[in-house]
Amino acid sequence: MRLHIDWTACDGRGLCTELLPETLDRDPWGFPVPRDGAREPAVHPDLAAHAERAVRLCPSLALRLRGAK
Ligand code: SF4
Repeated sequence: MRLHIDWTACDGRGLCTELLPETLDRDPWGFPVPRDGAREPAVHPDLAAHAERAVRLCPSLALRLRGAK
């Protein structure tokens, strides 16, 4: 699965980078930076529950998961 980040909605608080540190680094302002360099970073299946939590808790509703794997 892949994580879609709506950059127009993200306000850079960095919550998702704390919940998904394996997938997302953060820049100095708190905005997520995909570690794999992809626009929609791949989420390892083992991290699916964490990714779903990040989607649920993003205060700006800026995250979505795409695909089954
Ligand atoms: S949790 Fe949402 S608003 Fe916060 S940095 Fe991540 S995508 Fe942006």
